[in-house]
Amino acid sequence: MKPSSSLVIEPLPEQAYTPPSALPYRSWVEVSRAQIAANFEAIGSVVGPSVEVMPVVKADAYRHGAVEVSRVLESRGANWLAVSNTDEGIALRDAGIRTRILVMADFLPFTREAMLAYNLTPVIHSLEDLAELNRLAGTRSERYRCHLKIDSGMGRLGLRTDSEIVAGAILAAHNVEVEGLMTHFASAGNYQTEQTEEQIRSFERMASVLRSAGVCPKLLHLSSTIPVAYGRVAAWQQMVRPGHAIYGYISPARGHAPGKILQVKPALSWRATILSVKEVPSGTLVGYGGMYRTSRAMRLAVLAAGYADGIPHRLGNRGSVIVRGKLAPIVGAVSMDLTTVDVMDSDIKPGDAVTLLGTEGTVSIDAQQIARWAGTISYSVLCGIHARVKRLYV
Ligand SMILES: *Cc1c(COP(=O)(O)O)cnc(C)c1O
Repeated sequence: MKPSSSLVIEPLPEQAYTPPSALPYRSWVEVSRAQIAANFEAIGSVVGPSVEVMPVVKADAYRHGAVEVSRVLESRGANWLAVSNTDEGIALRDAGIRTRILVMADFLPFTREAMLAYNLTPVIHSLEDLAELNRLAGTRSERYRCHLKIDSGMGRLGLRTDSEIVAGAILAAHNVEVEGLMTHFASAGNYQTEQTEEQIRSFERMASVLRSAGVCPKLLHLSSTIPVAYGRVAAWQQMVRPGHAIYGYISPARGHAPGKILQVKPALSWRATILSVKEVPSGTLVGYGGMYRTSRAMRLAVLAAGYADGIPHRLGNRGSVIVRGKLAPIVGAVSMDLTTVDVMDSDIKPGDAVTLLGTEGTVSIDAQQIARWAGTISYSVLCGIHARVKRLYV
């Protein structure tokens, strides 16, 4: 029977497919500087020129490499970068980064001196620490700037103190300029709860009491990636703090979320080299615990990367990698330094590269997909890529 014309399917155009190049590393990531820059610029055009974009480069820039990423961002006009702790800030200063650097989760007694010596700007989480910063500044007859964090409802770091008392404490800290006032959301991506609106209201009550007392921080900031990406404009104020989106990720929202207004793409691909390829008969047990038994004769490749490199152990018998442009299932347990995959009929050989995270031809695996397989979150997958995995910048 001749198919009706409406059923004629146009052949797809030939996809240009080139396998990843073999490189002399067991496992490596390739980070695209151009994509980091494009993501930063996409965020800037969404929030507009009146909102400062402070990229978050903590945890070694979500393992993309904080120094390289920060250099790109500084060259593209970032005036601020955010890190978690003093050591991360010092590493950037030692590499020559000259932007303002906000240290979001430190001001421990043993890091304060270094923090100030390296011109890092602390986030202050308590009135005791504010008084201590004031005292330190007094001993050096300098004026120090800080950002003050309010716990508007997340129940983690930040002040939960009566706003009049906070105002009084700031006014009493003569040697400190509270340059920024910030808070962090617990459920920004969940549109089934009012928690974010309540946090915004609580933050605004604090800001308004401070204003009436004559305390007017220049930079109010509340938003990480999600409130930017889903257009929660009320939370943008003078500054936003995207991390995930800089690296090309936006977590899916829950409930009746508005459409995304930000488009970004992953900047990192992760590859591994094949150490060995072999044929095994049906019934072969594979790996620790004999967790997998082949149901037919199989061609298995052993990759030179395991959970010590950051492949989640939970991917055993569950995840896949990309081999020659096709998904190849992980078989058996992921070991510390090795992972075994079913490469089917592919002609892959030792020394060839496979893709753990990234794209080959029309097939992609991103950190969100790996997180679904592993029962975790994409942040944890990215942060789990171990330091021993070689970083390359393209
Ligand atoms: C990590 C962090 C961010 C960035 O969050 P993303 O979801 O990665 O954009 C922003 N603000 C604070 C306080 C953080 O700890």
